[in-house]
Amino acid sequence: MYKHRWSDGRDIEPLPGKAVCIGRNYAEHARELNNPVPQAPLLFIKPLTAMTEMESEIVIPGGMGEVHHEAEIAVLIKEKLTQADRRMAEQSIAGIGAALDLTLRALQNDLKSRSHPWEKAKAFDGSCPLSRFTEIEKFPDLTDIDVRFSVNGVVRQSGNSAQMLFPIIELIETTSHFFTLLPGDILLTGTPAGVGRLGVGDTFTMTVGEQIEVTSTVNRR
Ligand code: ZN
Repeated sequence: MYKHRWSDGRDIEPLPGKAVCIGRNYAEHARELNNPVPQAPLLFIKPLTAMTEMESEIVIPGGMGEVHHEAEIAVLIKEKLTQADRRMAEQSIAGIGAALDLTLRALQNDLKSRSHPWEKAKAFDGSCPLSRFTEIEKFPDLTDIDVRFSVNGVVRQSGNSAQMLFPIIELIETTSHFFTLLPGDILLTGTPAGVGRLGVGDTFTMTVGEQIEVTSTVNRR
């Protein structure tokens, strides 16, 4: 079973819990999928069974249509948070990681068009590959973190947390008013523009700031 780890390989004490994901948190990405820019954070959840290690290899489902990459900054929570205010939210972060919000795009479009929940397209097994985490102390400014994703040497996504419609601390605050956050839970903070298809045999590199870099390949389940 997947476990969160620090960049030096140590296990992170609190066991992983849920991933709360934020949709359409970069205006350019909302526009590329012809979605309106949201007035409040759009939240959905991936369960523990979605989480896998990003390093060396990820596996995507076959026979379910296109699998898209959404490269996102992940935030690891260290404290129980309910109805948090700004100060509590600021003190709740243990570390930062790199995450993929893998999406079955055709299925998601179909579910959306019928006004159905999109869990099957977003929360399937293995849909949340995660890097190792870096301590929050090494990210002094959460409003200036680069995130970049390349496939086979070509940059597909390149953004910065400064472009988020709702910044990280506000996302934690808002989330905690709907879902109590527990130690080991993570937030996926939305993806910049440039999402696209991942195929079997692709090699990708994802970086978050200068602190995190992961190279991995795509295989089929
Ligand atoms: Zn996403």
